[in-house]
Amino acid sequence: MESSVFVFHPDEIVLLDSFELPVLNPALETIACATRMHIRIDGKPFLVLMTETARSADVLDACAAGSGKACSWVPVKSLFAQDGSIPEPLARNAGRAYGLINWYSATRFCTRCGGTLEDHPSETAMRCPSCGVDYYPRLAPAIIVLVHRGDTMLLVRHAHRIQHLFSCVAGYVEHGETLEACVAREVLEETGITVKNIRYAGSQSWPFPDQYMVAFHADWASGELVPDGEEILEARWFSRSELPNIPSPYSVAWKLIMGELNG
Ligand SMILES: [Zn+2]
Repeated sequence: MESSVFVFHPDEIVLLDSFELPVLNPALETIACATRMHIRIDGKPFLVLMTETARSADVLDACAAGSGKACSWVPVKSLFAQDGSIPEPLARNAGRAYGLINWYSATRFCTRCGGTLEDHPSETAMRCPSCGVDYYPRLAPAIIVLVHRGDTMLLVRHAHRIQHLFSCVAGYVEHGETLEACVAREVLEETGITVKNIRYAGSQSWPFPDQYMVAFHADWASGELVPDGEEILEARWFSRSELPNIPSPYSVAWKLIMGELNG
């Protein structure tokens, strides 16, 4: 029987004071849920709920019932802050629960025969009862790279992300490609330069909805910046003392730019 519950909607989570999860109680049975899932983390069972209403006060009341504590909606991304305020196991487990409930709610039908999927009897997976295919949670690997030239670093403005922010070059890994080859390709495609000394810096699960970010440093090798004009609106070299607006401290990009991922 689960003792702790992850309650989400759509990109926020309910937490009790002191960063605790709500505890299973009868009031939670009354919450309207779009998706309800049972998972195990390190052998321990959890209930995961995707509620139907954003920032619902009724959901907060149900989560707090019997605990004697206040609770609130918190952005899931804020759990990835690296300032020590969030217990690491909570961030890791909530990220796993959030990625799984998003996958589960989007995995209803067999892509081979169109049959309705059922829960796998023993694993975190779905099974098609008609043709027997199993569907496991998917991760989409992506690289993110901070390119250095002397004392400066390459930051770009993406057309399809928040346009007033400068961030690192990033992109999805393609079939048949190594992570390092993906770094070199993405930098060349997006900015027109080549890089060398590609070195691993760290990694982070980023379940929005299913990315797995692998971070690198690299050094400029040749060429001048020519943004592709489609994905990248602007590409520039910045020194650490004159940084533009950059992504939030929850992101891998921030950690790379601020020197917290040195590999
Ligand atoms: Zn099938």
